[in-house]
Amino acid sequence: MSASVDRDVLVVGGGVAGLSAAVFTARRGLDTLVVDGGESILRRNAHLENFPGFPLGVNARRLLDLLGEQAENAGAARLDARVTRIAVVDGDDDTDADSAGTDPDDARFVVETHAGDRIRTRYVVAATKNEVGYLEGVEGVGILDRGKAYVDVDERGRTGVDGLYAAGRLAEKPHQAAVCAGHGAEVAVTLLEDDDAPFYHDWVAPEGYFTDRGREVPPGCEEIDAEERREREAASLAATRERFAEPHPDPQETHPSLEE
Ligand SMILES: Cc1cc2nc3c(=O)[nH]c(=O)nc-3n(C[C@H](O)[C@H](O)[C@H](O)COP(=O)(O)OP(=O)(O)OC[C@H]3O[C@@H](n4cnc5c(N)ncnc54)[C@H](O)[C@@H]3O)c2cc1C
Repeated sequence: MSASVDRDVLVVGGGVAGLSAAVFTARRGLDTLVVDGGESILRRNAHLENFPGFPLGVNARRLLDLLGEQAENAGAARLDARVTRIAVVDGDDDTDADSAGTDPDDARFVVETHAGDRIRTRYVVAATKNEVGYLEGVEGVGILDRGKAYVDVDERGRTGVDGLYAAGRLAEKPHQAAVCAGHGAEVAVTLLEDDDAPFYHDWVAPEGYFTDRGREVPPGCEEIDAEERREREAASLAATRERFAEPHPDPQETHPSLEE
């Protein structure tokens, strides 16, 4: 089956970095698709004890589920497919028969998957750990061979190609989930600032926090009143109780070399 759709942001890789990036771009209202063709290496973790916010640790597979749910709640879509190629286009590509929203003339990339999907997008965030095969034909992307492959980026995750970013371990960030998740968020904020929102914030502030001082609510921020705050907290408490009511059903995954 093949598809031709248009997106604002296509995130390649639905591990911690990619999903974190998608949370931010989707919350901004950009039409975001996360394409993942395998499994995060974090699924091999035995018990995750250094991710902020979990004083006694958390099941890593649970954390990945929650991150995926958070990205979807923010508005991101997800596709189970392996990306095989990215082509830079000049906006004249006219395969927009199933266009899903954005202006096709703005597309800068066509992303192809092993299943024959052909997805046009304005931005790409690559977050595939050490998998770089699909980037090798893209002129301007520096691939670093340091035993494992990484993508050469600036301090905010930009590659040498406008609109194409790399996040997490792929951008040679240290090999911890919190670091890679944080970098995914940072890269997404960079993308949003490059897009149209300088000094982008993604804050939920109490009613009047900005406006009572005569300030505009900054890009990406919202003010909520006490009742709305209570409603959101009640919903988050209920969801958290439900998601953590039972041990995660999936087994811890092993290194492929240990599989029978
Ligand atoms: C055994 C083990 C234990 C660990 N324990 C800890 C720990 O206790 N604490 C800690 O902080 N960190 C731990 N880590 C490290 C942590 O898992 C990684 O640092 C983190 O997952 C890297 O995040 P990432 O998003 O860059 O990559 P990943 O989370 O691996 O995500 C990359 C994603 O890209 C997808 N992908 C790859 N190629 C393609 C393609 N062509 N098309 C589409 N999708 C693609 C993969 O399927 C994967 O889902 C552990 C790792 C291992 C192996």
